[in-house]
Amino acid sequence: MRRLLRVTEPVDLGAVDPRSTPGLPDRAVTGEHRKAWARAQVGLLGAELAQQQEMLYATAQAAEAGRHAGSPAQRVLLVLQAMDSGGKDGTIKRVAGAMNPLGLHIRSFGPPTPEELRHDFLWRIRRALPPPGYVGIFNRSHYEDVLVARVASLVPEATWRARYDEINAFERDLADDGVTLVKVLLHISYAEQGTRLLARLDDPRKHWKYNPADIDARARWDDYQAAYADALGRCDTDAAPWFVVPADRKWYRDWAVAHLLHETFDTLRLGYPPAGFDVARERERLRAGGAVADGTVEVNGR
Ligand code: ATP
Ligand code: MG
Repeated sequence: MRRLLRVTEPVDLGAVDPRSTPGLPDRAVTGEHRKAWARAQVGLLGAELAQQQEMLYATAQAAEAGRHAGSPAQRVLLVLQAMDSGGKDGTIKRVAGAMNPLGLHIRSFGPPTPEELRHDFLWRIRRALPPPGYVGIFNRSHYEDVLVARVASLVPEATWRARYDEINAFERDLADDGVTLVKVLLHISYAEQGTRLLARLDDPRKHWKYNPADIDARARWDDYQAAYADALGRCDTDAAPWFVVPADRKWYRDWAVAHLLHETFDTLRLGYPPAGFDVARERERLRAGGAVADGTVEVNGR
């Protein structure tokens, strides 16, 4: 999936069908069954993601204690970008939801606060990075500073133009510092966004998610698509690749993002760190205290 969904240059988002399902195996059959199949797969992948996350966390913990010569700063950072109602929240709920909340570091970025505005645009991003061993998720990110900032003319053109290089330098530093970046655009269609925004208006329980300003951004759809194309084209590097996930179908979106994360963890060749103590001796000490019941103990709830 990393190969299949990696952005290609020149970036042409119009050529990516938001309803398509690249990589979905034929055996996933057709129609409604595909959906059930993909949802079941996300459940299975989720269990594996949870274990991969645990290995990442355990390795970092052991490294911190100075017992294991792993890469001490290793962490994963999933950057999610999308137009409004593109499904960032749903993806986090479904995909990250399978992992241990203790090892997750989830941050959302809205309009900068007055304090944030007093600093460089990467200031708040640096402060939000996941600590070693954690899986970070950015719900929007520094890319807003070349998206909304550009389309809504929040800064002069020279300012946002200079940011692509700044972002590349920043992300290269992150990679050097052990951060494995996975940048994902959840790609929805104009029509699908219309349907989703209408659903938010139709359901009083979803009004809290609706923002009248979303219609203003929607009116600039083509400008946003152009800004996305530039951001993806200029900031897609091997150290920090961009992926485009067709996202009109939520079940495909979740399945694809779960795979991207799973494959990314695989590239890290994770394992559990060796014990920093003598296991046999500890077992003896424990038994010496008596009262250890026989039987099996549940491991990871299994
Ligand atoms: P949904 O996709 O469900 O609508 P959301 O991500 O839009 O959720 P909101 O809290 O509604 O969440 O909106 C966040 C807003 O913050 C977006 O409109 C986004 O463009 C804006 N924002 C984020 N970063 C910046 C930035 N650097 N400068 C200006 N606006 C920003
Ligand atoms: Mg919004």
